[in-house]
Amino acid sequence: MSTNLVFLGPPGAGKGTVAALAAQKLKIPHISTGDIFRANVKNKTELGRQVESIMAKGEYVPDEVTNALVKERFKEPDIAHGYILDGFPRTLAQAKALEAFSVLTAAVNFQINENEVIRRLSGRRICSACGAGYHMENMRPKTEGVCDKCGGSLYLREDDKPEAIKTRLKVYHESAAPLLNYYAEKNLLKNINAESSPEEALQQILDLLG
Ligand code: AMP
Repeated sequence: MSTNLVFLGPPGAGKGTVAALAAQKLKIPHISTGDIFRANVKNKTELGRQVESIMAKGEYVPDEVTNALVKERFKEPDIAHGYILDGFPRTLAQAKALEAFSVLTAAVNFQINENEVIRRLSGRRICSACGAGYHMENMRPKTEGVCDKCGGSLYLREDDKPEAIKTRLKVYHESAAPLLNYYAEKNLLKNINAESSPEEALQQILDLLG
């Protein structure tokens, strides 16, 4: 049986951090549409050029583009035993597209209050080389501005700046309710308390998987 998970919740809820831990534990790939888009921007691909300004503003990439990207990713053999989709689906149309090519085990919803989200996002730093995440308050790198894992330089994401954070939260709230209802009606929605540490969030997920 494969473990097919989607992680839902606002930006800054820790989906990426917990997805990395869970993927390692469950030995399934962590698929982040945000990471794939950022890699395309960095490598200046056609897709990257298409999404760069949308992302910098904190808006959503159009569903057709995002759905096509995920569908393509699902052709890789590594999803045979399951996957963790982090940051997809974000809209009802995306959820329906996913349903057409995969059956979910659970939709894990990261619950967190908005002040905590703002604190987390504004302190977040990302490695420009390997994409690893840090936080200026509680996940500091050993050397200021340098990635522990690969030595790459750390940066503040364009969309973690205050104006873009505001847009991202607004956009999130506009599309979240229908998405959460959709999964609740299918009995797939599992809420976790995302204000805990990443390790505790992981434990909640392992518990709900049984
Ligand atoms: P993330 O790293 O998940 O916060 O995603 C960063 C940005 O990539 C988002 O603010 C969107 O601009 C874009 N993005 C990532 N995933 C999606 C998605 N499922 N639908 C639309 N846009 C997305």
